[in-house]
Amino acid sequence: MVYHSSKAISCACCSTRIDCNGETHYCHATLLPLMVKPDFAHVLSLFPEMITAQDGHEKQDCERAAAKRWLNRWSHLFTPFSVTFLGDDLFANQPLCQQISDLEQYYLFVCKPNSHIGLYRWLASLTLSSDSKRVWNGKHGEIWTWRWVNDVPIREGEDALRGNWCELHITHLEAAFIKRLYVAASRPRHLLCLAIHKDHISDEQIRALGSEGKGWRICDLSEKLANHNN
Ligand SMILES: [Zn+2]
Repeated sequence: MVYHSSKAISCACCSTRIDCNGETHYCHATLLPLMVKPDFAHVLSLFPEMITAQDGHEKQDCERAAAKRWLNRWSHLFTPFSVTFLGDDLFANQPLCQQISDLEQYYLFVCKPNSHIGLYRWLASLTLSSDSKRVWNGKHGEIWTWRWVNDVPIREGEDALRGNWCELHITHLEAAFIKRLYVAASRPRHLLCLAIHKDHISDEQIRALGSEGKGWRICDLSEKLANHNN
């Protein structure tokens, strides 16, 4: 969040940005994490982390570095495997994903093809799982199509962290393409149930995967979606 931007007023802590006309803008920004919970109407604001040049660093500060500092400072407040960190494409990079994994938490970041060349090269060589269903959004019908793959390197290189990838492609029943969402998740268990038709999985299989078997948490999103759309 940018809370100061000026071409005239500046201080030693300002970040600078040069626009397309060559003019310098002086800014102050902060990373402002929010805590949200499904089915919970309140949003809690957490401690901000200022995006400002750090002592001993000549380079300008950035959101990624601020996110790392925030995690170093505050992650002890959360019990292991209790939080999923959400973020845009900017945060879907190996060092940050590794840091969150080392902290025994989850992440769910957007990872677009043009900024994740290595990951999408892997995806092109793999057979992706897919599934689709009709969803009524309250006004018109949509086709939701998922494609996903588990346990895939998130970048090129032998030391690449492995994560899950999922794409949700929503099309209007009568019109053309609407939107496409890409995500990557940290742990192989985390996203799997997102893409399975309820009637494709038997009670016996649910028991085997769930608390009586492998300990997976099985979520049924269809009721949540229906409530959300109404
Ligand atoms: Zn300033």
